[in-house]
Parts: sequence; structure tokens; C-alpha cells
Amino acid sequence: MAQSDPNSSQTSTGTPRDLTGVYSDELGFFTMDMNVPGLSKVILQKLNMKDYEDYRAALEGKKGAEGFGIHSYHEMFQKMEDTYKFCAECRRLPSNLPDPKALRRCKRCQNVYYCCKECQRANWPTHKKFCKTLKLVAIDRLVEWLVFTGDLPFPTDVWPKPASQVSGWDDWFSMQGELDNRLDAVLTSRYMGILWSNAGKPRPEEPELRESVKRVSTEFLSRPLTIGMGLLNFGLDPSARPLTVHVVGASHNETLNARVSDLDELVRMFPGTQALQVVMVGPEVVDGSITRPPLSGYGPRGQVYISSKKGFYHDFWETLVETQEVMRPDLVVGFHPGFHVSTGLAEGWLPTLLLLRDYKIPSLFTMYNEQELKCSLQILVDLECRITAHGVNPFSSLKPEQVQSSPNKPVAYCHSHYVAFHGPVEEMDMGEEQQEEEEEN
Ligand SMILES: [Zn+2]
Ligand SMILES: [Zn+2]
Repeated sequence: MAQSDPNSSQTSTGTPRDLTGVYSDELGFFTMDMNVPGLSKVILQKLNMKDYEDYRAALEGKKGAEGFGIHSYHEMFQKMEDTYKFCAECRRLPSNLPDPKALRRCKRCQNVYYCCKECQRANWPTHKKFCKTLKLVAIDRLVEWLVFTGDLPFPTDVWPKPASQVSGWDDWFSMQGELDNRLDAVLTSRYMGILWSNAGKPRPEEPELRESVKRVSTEFLSRPLTIGMGLLNFGLDPSARPLTVHVVGASHNETLNARVSDLDELVRMFPGTQALQVVMVGPEVVDGSITRPPLSGYGPRGQVYISSKKGFYHDFWETLVETQEVMRPDLVVGFHPGFHVSTGLAEGWLPTLLLLRDYKIPSLFTMYNEQELKCSLQILVDLECRITAHGVNPFSSLKPEQVQSSPNKPVAYCHSHYVAFHGPVEEMDMGEEQQEEEEEN
């Protein structure tokens, strides 16, 4: 599955990645044009960019916001919405219609468009299966802007019980004292007001907006909590000793507009954290406030210390970990590595996976759905990695994600599934299996 949402580049929408040098969004752009011919061009135009190269440059911070030619909030939201404007049935863009203004929006979901009544009618049998969810998606992609403005996530509490006893989001939300007040503060914030007076869509009812704020919060917190889940999975306790986590295959999803406080929920998850260092490593790492050298020793006491390094993980390992310039990881996490769709596993992920296996580094990877999990599991099994756990992530994002160029498809959720592995399949295990087979024979 390829999803790309470069317009909300200030946020973290999650895009399957390929680490073979082909940038993930280039792949996304390609898929997009397969579905809706010309859509990627519209997106670039809206961003005032002439081509994909320009887009990459902007992502890498080589082009300032003024370069995007956006002068008002209204224009910003308008341009973002424009990239969703094509007929969901015949796939025509406004520019290919006799009257570009004839495009009408589904009143229920405020998300998909039609060039005429006939197309809308023809599409309904399919669209009705997705309309309800697409309504949530349309609200969430606007509310997500509040992560960029700093209104989200709302302030959270230290976990009052051991992390191992917190079973998922219901539990987590119930630990936030006076949750309604916290949500109200977001709902009445200045930027929430600005958002709905410029969005070109009616402001949803309060309960709907409240739920959206909760979903977007889970999207943001899914990353720290998945790292925390990984630590628990391998019996690593940050309050028992200082720990180092490497995030491999990090891209603009994790690093664009990243803040040094992005993973602070981990300190609340593990009260008494001694020191937790997180290094983001990947060829698509973007420069920003977390661009600082990884530490050669432990991180500062009682904090999560994030740093980043651009490049392939196996190179990073060779030049910095092997030489002991940076700490060896206690845990390695990969968010949506997508190595199952990687066109060149050998160049990109293979050296990293083998390295993690052979150095017996506790590792955890996340996926968008069960199908991806199955494919990834197969690859890891083929590589003779010892799988220690896999399944549904209790801290999956609850924010549905649509395929921009193909809305009438099942939505996905970031980090919905995970697989953990540790070292190679033991030779002893292999021996036993062989023995069993022999006995059977
Ligand atoms: Zn049409
Ligand atoms: Zn609809």
C-alpha cells in the first residue's frame, strides 16, 4: 500500500518507505498518478513547486515556508483541500472538466468529490462502505494541524500504575485526570478557532471534535508508547538503568518539525527513568531541532534525549557504533519500515536486518495492517531471525488514514501491528526441529 500526504508535511501521516535510495514519497507520487492521473502535479502546483526535486528540497528544509507562496490560513487549508478534489468515480481532476467548479462534495463525509450527479450515484454502492470513516479522516486531517501549532498533545500525567498493567488507550485515557478539561482546553484554543473559520467546512459538533482530538493524540503518542511497549517486551526498564534506543529507517515522518520533547511521554510511562537516549537514523532524516550528535555516553538524567543522524543504519553502525563513538542500542525500533515492499531489500534493509540479528539486538518493527505483518514475518523467518512476539499493537494510532488518491478503500492505522525479534534462531532450536522431523520419519 502506498499513501502519501505531502500537503500535511508538518504532521506525521506515515508513509511506507523504501530505503534503497528511492525516496518513499516519490513512490507515493507514482502510485498516486496511477490512480488519479495528474494528481501529483496538482499537489506540487499547490505548493508552488515545479517538480519533485523541489518538493524534496522543501522537505529537507532547503526552501523556507515563504517559498511555498502561502499567505493566509485560508489559502493554506484551501490548497490542502484542493489536493483531494477529483471525481471519486471517473477520477477526473477539475482541470479536465468542462466546468471545474461543477465538482461537488459528498455532504456526509465532506471528503470525496464528484464531477456530476451520475458519478455520485454510480459511486454510492462502494462509497457508502467508507463514507462514515472518511468523515472522521476529513476532520482529523484538519485537527492534526494543532500538533504543528503546539496545542496537541495536551499535557499528560505520570502513569499511576506500572506500564505493564496499562492495556491500551482506554486505560491510558482513564489515567488522565479531568480529561474533559484537557480536551476542552484544546477545543477552545485560539488555533482551533482559526482552523474552523478558515477550513471551508462546517465546524463539527463538540462530541465529534472531542473524539478527533483524542484520535490525533493517539497518533502522536503512538510512537513513544510503541517504544515503551518494545522496552517492556524485552524486559528493559529505564528506571533500573540508563538505556539507548535507535529508531532505524527514520524519515521526515519522524523528523520533520520534530521537537526534542516529542517522546517525553516515555518518562511519564516509566517514572524514575534514569536516562533514555533515542537516536533517529535513516537516509531520509530531515534537519531540525533534534539534529544534534548522538551521545557517546548515557543521556541526561531523568530525560528522553533525542538526536538524529542521516544515513543508512549499517553505515551508522560501522562508523559510529563499532568505534564506540555512540552507545550501542538496548533496543532498535523501526516504524513502518516497509521492507516487505522494498524493491531492493538487499541494498537497503538486508544489511541492517542481518546486523540486528547477528549482534542480537532486541528489535521491534511496526506495520500498517495484518497483511503487512504477515509479509514482514515471513521475511524475518526466512532470515532466520528469532521472533519473540508479534500481533496487534495495543498503542496503535486510532486515527484512520485514507489512501489519498483512492479514498474508497479500507483505511489504515499507523503502528497497528508489530513484530519483535531477538538474534538468530538458536542452533539448538534448529537441531531439535531436525530431530523431530527425523523421529517423524
Ligand atoms: Zn465523474
Ligand atoms: Zn461521503
